[in-house]
Amino acid sequence: MDCIFCKIANGEIPATKVYEDDTVLAFNDLEPQAPSHILVIPKAHIASAADITPENSAVISHIFEVIAKIAKDNNFNDGFRVVNNCGDSAGQTVKHIHFHLMAGRDFTWPAG
Ligand code: AMP
Ligand code: ZN
Repeated sequence: MDCIFCKIANGEIPATKVYEDDTVLAFNDLEPQAPSHILVIPKAHIASAADITPENSAVISHIFEVIAKIAKDNNFNDGFRVVNNCGDSAGQTVKHIHFHLMAGRDFTWPAG
């Protein structure tokens, strides 16, 4: 499968890693939209949030534990934003589920 985030997860494509364990990887976004912009992904391919099932959802809750740890370790004490784009109209460009963890500036709401 020609999936760029699978290739980052298996080391074929380099990335600046922020956190890694057996099932989850976090790395810096190539085009940061905030002073800190980290992508958190499951190593196993899940295409999007619409593809979460009872069989694969454990890694998603683990991702949120990882997000809390990264936020603590990096002193995102003023707050941070977690974003998942699901599907074309939401702007999902990489079809491997990922959570944008952004911090270091104020964010507006609702997001465009
Ligand atoms: P989305 O539009 O929600 O699918 O987000 C995809 C994100 O992946 C964008 O913010 C891109 O900047 C980022 N991205 C794409 N390729 C890479 C890469 N090789 N390394 C790091 N980030 C990437
Ligand atoms: Zn993938």
